Amino acid sequence: RSKSAGRNCFTIYDEAMSAELEARNTLEGDLRDAIAQCQLEVHYQPFVDALSGVRRGFEALVRWRHPTRGLIPPDQFISLAEETGLIVPLGEFVLRRACADAAGWPSDLMVAVNLSPIQFKEAELFDMICAALADSGLPPQRLEIEITESVLLERAVENHAFMERLKSIGIELALDDFGTGYSSLSYLTAFPFDKIKIDKSFIRNLTHQPRSSAIISAIVTLARGLDMSVTAEGVETCEEFERLKVLGVNFAQGYLLGRPQPIEGIQFDEQAKPSRRDAA
Ligand code: C2E
Ligand code: MG
Ligand code: MG
Ligand code: MG
Repeated sequence: RSKSAGRNCFTIYDEAMSAELEARNTLEGDLRDAIAQCQLEVHYQPFVDALSGVRRGFEALVRWRHPTRGLIPPDQFISLAEETGLIVPLGEFVLRRACADAAGWPSDLMVAVNLSPIQFKEAELFDMICAALADSGLPPQRLEIEITESVLLERAVENHAFMERLKSIGIELALDDFGTGYSSLSYLTAFPFDKIKIDKSFIRNLTHQPRSSAIISAIVTLARGLDMSVTAEGVETCEEFERLKVLGVNFAQGYLLGRPQPIEGIQFDEQAKPSRRDAA
C-alpha cells in the first residue's frame, strides 16, 4: 500500500490478501444485490425411473444471472453465500420458486430442493418450508429435500429431530453426494432418509473400473436393507445407464437424461408434442 514499504515478500503477501478480500467483498455485495434484484434463477434437471425411463421429477438448481459476468454456476457462489449467511434468503428464494413452479406441473412429478447445512441452524426453517408449501399449494408429498452428509455430523441430535419433523408432514428426504463425505455408515441407519443419491464421481469410472460397480452394487444392497431408494447422479452415457440398471439403481439423473434448464424450456405435456402421425 505505502510507496516506501518496498517490494518485500510481506507486502506482496499483504497485497495478494487484500486483493482477494476485495474481490470477495465485491462478490458478496453483488450477491446481496442479486438476491434483492431477482438476478437468481432456478433451473430444473429431470430424474427418471431407471427401469421404465419414465420421468419422476426435477431437481431445482440455482443459477446467478450476473449483469456483467453472465450466468454463474452455484459452485462459484454457494460457499460464499454460506459464509456470509446469504444462503438463508437465497435458499428461501429457491424453495419458494421451486414449490410455486412445481405446483403447476402434472401432479405425479416431484421437485427436489437442495438445503444447506447452514439453513438447518435457522430456527425459522421449518415454518418457512411450511409457508412455501402453503403459499404455493404444493402437497408436501411432492417435495423432496436434498441434504449432504455434513448435516449428519454437526448438530446431529437437532438435525435428526428436524428431519423427523419434515418426514412427519410428508416431505421426502434424500442424502445427496453420497460417498464423498466422511460420515460412517451407521449414520445412515439413524437418519430417516427415503433416498440415497450416489455422487457422480462413482458413475464416472463405472464403465472402466470394475471396482466402481462393486461400490454401487454394495450401496444398492445397503439401501434396500434400509428401505431406501437409490439415485445415480451424473449419468452421461448409454453404457453407464445400462450398467446402472443392471446394478439395480432405482432412479437416474444426468446429462444423458436431460440437462438443467429454465422452466420455459421444459415440455410437460408429452401428448401435446406433434406426433409422427401428424407429419405423415
Ligand atoms: P448437486 O445437488 O449434487 O447437483 C447436481 C450437480 O451435478 C448439478 O450441478 C448438475 O448440473 C450437475 N450434473 C447433473 N448431471 C450431470 C452430468 O451428467 N455430468 C456432470 N458432470 N454434472 C452433472 P450445479 O447445478 O452446478 O450445482 C452444483 C451444486 O451446487 C449442487 O450439487 C448443489 O450442491 C449446489 N446447489 C445448487 N443449487 C443449490 C441451491 O439452491 N441450494 C444449495 N444449498 N445448494 C445448491
Ligand atoms: Mg442435489
Ligand atoms: Mg449431488
Ligand atoms: Mg453437490
